[in-house]
Amino acid sequence: MEIFEKISDTIIHVGKDVTQKAKDVSGIAKLKMDIRSKEDFIKEQYIELGKLYYEKYKGSNEEEQAQFERIDEAMCEIEQMKLQILEIRKTKKCPDCGAEAPDTAGYCSVCGANLSIVEEMPDTETEEESEKDDNIDF
Ligand SMILES: [Zn+2]
Repeated sequence: MEIFEKISDTIIHVGKDVTQKAKDVSGIAKLKMDIRSKEDFIKEQYIELGKLYYEKYKGSNEEEQAQFERIDEAMCEIEQMKLQILEIRKTKKCPDCGAEAPDTAGYCSVCGANLSIVEEMPDTETEEESEKDDNIDF
């Protein structure tokens, strides 16, 4: 019977042991990691909040106008760089499956569709891709 009491004792004390471990060096390291991940989480929330704020008050809040403009500028630059990437890669999109293919490819390497009739990036049908196109066309 004594052994069972010891086991239940152990179970009861596990919680306390965890607290004790937190005082160890490894416990500190873990806590530091937890703190960092929480800080990252807060940063993400700030970013989300900033995005919401940007979308809501863009063009209507003079105080942060310079910051809005900097964001707009950076977005514009990103779009330019995206276009540059497309140009460097000289790719086109398969009209059937949406895979990227070299500009010179006659057939899609993924689904085998004939690509020779595709001149430029075609208008895409799926929502996800039209979003991408929106970004590029911006
Ligand atoms: Zn394809």
